[in-house]
Amino acid sequence: MKVIWNNQLVEREDVKIDMEDRGYQFADGLYEVIRAYNGILFTAEQHVERLFTGAKKIDLILPFTREELIYLLNELIKENSIETGNIYLQITRGVSSPRNHTYPKIEFTSPVFTASTTVVPRNLETMKDGIKVITLPDMRWLHCDIKSISLLGNIMAKHEAHKKGKDEAILYRDEAVTECSASNVSIIKNKILYTHPDGNLILSGITKTVLLKVARQRGIIVKEETFTLKDLKEADEVFASSTTMEAMPVVEIDDKPVGDGKRGPVVKLLQELYVNEVELTCGS
Ligand code: PMP
Repeated sequence: MKVIWNNQLVEREDVKIDMEDRGYQFADGLYEVIRAYNGILFTAEQHVERLFTGAKKIDLILPFTREELIYLLNELIKENSIETGNIYLQITRGVSSPRNHTYPKIEFTSPVFTASTTVVPRNLETMKDGIKVITLPDMRWLHCDIKSISLLGNIMAKHEAHKKGKDEAILYRDEAVTECSASNVSIIKNKILYTHPDGNLILSGITKTVLLKVARQRGIIVKEETFTLKDLKEADEVFASSTTMEAMPVVEIDDKPVGDGKRGPVVKLLQELYVNEVELTCGS
């Protein structure tokens, strides 16, 4: 398996990351997960755009153009013969010594970019049966729009869920539901889809954006408005969304079933519409 290291395709064993890399010391970096279907990247432009937006927010100068990055990622997918799988990419501000919180001057450091692939089949069984979740206060920082490699708040929440034998944690600030530890969350009530508006409190999910687009095209009313924990628990249907999960039914919250505890009709429809959208880009 090849990986990308600083814009070159190399063997995994040849990658050397410095212990004074600011990604390692400060989690000073960004990441993306992009999915391939039939050997073709889905929504790559949107993921790359989000990376560039995040980079601008943290004054990180990326060592490639959008087009160069997409070219490299396609090369990696081809080289590793990935049909259905993920690319994980991350970019850090690079090595800076001695350790110092201040961003180093660009002439003294260069970003470190790595990317790797994993074969990950679509999890059709779970997409039908759904996942079980807990709810937790959102204890993360207030820049959740930045896809930062600093994920301690997220992984602590996911760990709480796993300790209770559940799959995900839905987070809330005061009474407003924000998102999950590694996905967005939306609810359906009386045929209307509600999801937290984009902004600094959530990651603007690419999957969510695709799902909202196809939902609207199908005539579903979509309201990008905050909803409460009470709304969540009284919803007809709930789903999480992410690049790897697509639209994932949530069938149990805090040990209580959502609706009748089975995947609902709107989520099923959204899953089908999502697949149609994937097939438009990646073929069937
Ligand atoms: N929110 C969080 C906190 C996430 O980690 C993710 C997935 N990385 C998402 C939302 C969903 O984003 P996307 O649909 O772009 O994968």
